[in-house]
Amino acid sequence: VGERTPPDRLLADLEGLLGPAHLLRDPDLVAGYAQDWTGRWRGAPLAVARPGSTVEVAAVLAACHAAGVPVVPQGGNTGLVGAAAPRDGELVLSTRRLDRIEPTTRSAGPTLLTGAGVTVAAAHAAAAAAGFDFPVDLGSRDSATVGGIVATNAGGERVMRYGGLRHHVLGLEVVLADSSVVTRLAGLPKDNVGYDLPQLIVGSEGTLGVVTRVLWRLVPATPLRVVALAGVASVAEAVAVLAAARAALPTLSAAEFLLAEGLELVRAHLGLPAPLREPAAVYLLLEVAEAPRPGRAGAAEEELAELLATRDEVRDAVLARSPAGRGRLWRLREGHAEAIAAAGRPVKLDVAVPLGELARFVDLLPTVLAPGVRPVLFGHLAEGNVHVNLLGVGPDDVHAVTDAVLRLVAGLGGSISAEHGIGVAKLPWVGLGRSPADLAAMRAVKAALDPDGILSPGRLLPASV
Ligand SMILES: Cc1cc2nc3c(=O)[nH]c(=O)nc-3n(C[C@H](O)[C@H](O)[C@H](O)COP(=O)(O)OP(=O)(O)OC[C@H]3O[C@@H](n4cnc5c(N)ncnc54)[C@H](O)[C@@H]3O)c2cc1C
Repeated sequence: VGERTPPDRLLADLEGLLGPAHLLRDPDLVAGYAQDWTGRWRGAPLAVARPGSTVEVAAVLAACHAAGVPVVPQGGNTGLVGAAAPRDGELVLSTRRLDRIEPTTRSAGPTLLTGAGVTVAAAHAAAAAAGFDFPVDLGSRDSATVGGIVATNAGGERVMRYGGLRHHVLGLEVVLADSSVVTRLAGLPKDNVGYDLPQLIVGSEGTLGVVTRVLWRLVPATPLRVVALAGVASVAEAVAVLAAARAALPTLSAAEFLLAEGLELVRAHLGLPAPLREPAAVYLLLEVAEAPRPGRAGAAEEELAELLATRDEVRDAVLARSPAGRGRLWRLREGHAEAIAAAGRPVKLDVAVPLGELARFVDLLPTVLAPGVRPVLFGHLAEGNVHVNLLGVGPDDVHAVTDAVLRLVAGLGGSISAEHGIGVAKLPWVGLGRSPADLAAMRAVKAALDPDGILSPGRLLPASV
C-alpha cells in the first residue's frame, strides 16, 4: 500500500488540474453544494471540484483515490433522500460543467447524446429542436441533471406512457472509482456482449461510478396537449376514473393526483384561485398528448372531454389547451414541493403501493401517525406512487414516523422507495424492500467496483441489515 496524499497536497493537485475557478473552497461558494434541497442534510466538504470533461473527472477520482478521500457526485442537487449532500471531509464532484449536447449521426433512430450536467429542461429543448420529445419529465426539470436522473433512476410524469427511464438509456459513459472509463455509446439496438453495465449504473445513486455522458432514445413529438383537472370524492373514485381513461384514451400521457389539503396549501402559497366551482376531496390531473394527424384534429381533447362528462365519479372538471392554461393546472400539482417546503420542514417519503391498495393506504395512513402530524399527499397515480409529506414531526420523531409509514407500505406489498432512491434517508429500512440475499449481491457488486469505498460511502447500502 503506497503513501496517501495529504489533503493539502490533494487540494493543490486538484487546483492545478482544474484551475482555481473550478476547485471551490471558499465557504460562501461551497454553501450551495453543502446542503441538500430539503435542508435536512448538510456537511462540511473538503472542497467542490467542477471538472469540465471526462478526462478531468477521471483525474479527480484518481487523485482522491490516492488520497483516500471519499467523493460524492452531485448534479442539480434536487435529490430528496440526502444522497448528494456531502458528509464532512468528502469532496463534492459537481457535474454541472459537463453540459455539452453532441450530435449522434451514427445512431439508429432518434437519439440524443448529453453530458451528465445537462439539465432535464435543456434535454427537452434539444429533443424538441430535433423534432422529438425527451421521454422523462419531472417537476425539478430546470435544475435536475441527466446524470442525476440516471443515477436515481428517476420516475416522474411520463412513466405511464413511455415506461421507466431505463428503457430510454441506450448507453452511457461512466468513470469508475479507480478512474477507469467505461464507454458504451455505440447505440446499437442489438448488442449482447456480456453484462449490461450501463443498466447497473442506472439507479446506483453515485455509489458505483460517475456518469459523464448518456445516450438517450427519444420518442415521437406530441405537441398537441390538453390537460384536465377533475374533482372526485375519494381516492377509490380517482383510481376508477384512471382505469376508464386508460381504456378509452390511447393518447393519455399523464395521470397525477392531489388531495384537497395539498391543493389549498399550493393555492395559499402561490395566491391562486380555486380551479373548480365545486371543491373536491381528491383531484385527478389527466393529460392527453398527440401528434397532429390529418382527420384527427381535436380528437384527443374530445375523447378526454367525453370521458369526464360520462363518468359519474367526476363532480366537476376543467380543461386547458393553451400552454398558459395547461401550465396553470400543472402548477397546482408541481407547486406542491415548494408549498410544502414553505410550510415547514417535512419528512418526505416517496412510496408506491399496488393501485388496488392505494385507497386503503390513504385511509390507513392517519392511523399510524401521532396526533399533530399533518400529512400532505400527492403523486403519480398510474404507478400508485404517493409522495407522503409529513409536517409537524419533531426531530426526535423522524425515525419512528418513517418506520411506521414504511412498514405500512411494505405490509400492503408496496415499495419504500418508488422513485427518489434510498440515499441516507431510507438506509435503515432497505431490508423492508430487499431480501438478505439481494442485499449481499448488491454489496458484492459495490465491493468489486469500489473496493476502497471511495464513492458515496454511507448511501444506499447500510453496513449491515
Ligand atoms: C420539485 C421537485 C420535484 C421532483 N420530482 C421528481 C419526480 O417527479 N420524480 C423523481 O424521480 N424525482 C423527483 N424529484 C427528485 C430529484 O429531482 C431527482 O431525484 C433527480 O433525479 C435528481 O437529479 P439531480 O441532478 O438534482 O441529482 P442530485 O440531487 O445532484 O443527485 C442525486 C443522486 O445522484 C447522484 N448523482 C448525480 N449526478 C451523478 C452522476 N453524474 N454520476 C453518478 N451519480 C450522480 C448523486 O450522488 C446522488 O446520489 C423532484 C425533486 C424536486 C425538488
